[in-house]
Amino acid sequence: MKPSERLQTVEAVIISHKEFGEADRLVNLFSLESGKIRSLAKGVRKIHSRKAAYLEPFMHSKVVLARGKTFWIITQADAIFNNPAIRDSLSKTAQAAYVMELTDRFTIEEEPDREIFRLITDTLKRINDHPDAFNALRFFELRILDQTGFRPDLTNCVDCGKEITAQDQYFSREQGGVLCPACGGLHTRVRKVSMNTLRYMRHFQRSAYAELARASVPFEVQEEMTALMNSYLSNVVERKLNAPDFLKQINRETRDQRQVK
Ligand SMILES: [Zn+2]
Repeated sequence: MKPSERLQTVEAVIISHKEFGEADRLVNLFSLESGKIRSLAKGVRKIHSRKAAYLEPFMHSKVVLARGKTFWIITQADAIFNNPAIRDSLSKTAQAAYVMELTDRFTIEEEPDREIFRLITDTLKRINDHPDAFNALRFFELRILDQTGFRPDLTNCVDCGKEITAQDQYFSREQGGVLCPACGGLHTRVRKVSMNTLRYMRHFQRSAYAELARASVPFEVQEEMTALMNSYLSNVVERKLNAPDFLKQINRETRDQRQVK
């Protein structure tokens, strides 16, 4: 997005929105063309608003934006894909909300990333279309970590560098990868990871989604993998708070808030 542009049409997924003033909403969206954009949708809380439905979370929409003083103003919105099954199911809604939360944490305002955009729209569609979203969610987590420079090392011990062999290991969320049994035993803030779970994680990390789509992951592996990914992701998000791009974003938000007041 060039500062000179006064109008732009983007393909976007709606991350979230919140009430603003009497009838308006602040809409946080991630666009293919311009990355994350915080925008204002005027009058959408009025009953006759036609735009409102296309600016709900998880919608994949075409949005026209005009540059305002503080925010981009949404002048038009139309559906590209509305993921109807997500809206009809509480568990799918929760899964999609989780994807949007990670999207918000891992993306930066006005920095486009086509691969992440496609990953998000594909993941929402997978959640929408399939009864079980486990594979789609773990695939999403591992890919967004790859794309943002936080790929966990699952092949070599993050301490001694030795190649990981087929046995139970440890995982360090601080060091971002697997520790061999010898090194893992010396640390306190590590968790055990079974050989089977590690095998599935490596498969998820290196395979295209088409190869994983029909993989049937045993229940105990699903539980271990979910817990491990949650633990690692929360650590990464904490670290990201101190990263320069995040500070840049926070500074920009503080400046915007000042302008609103
Ligand atoms: Zn080691």
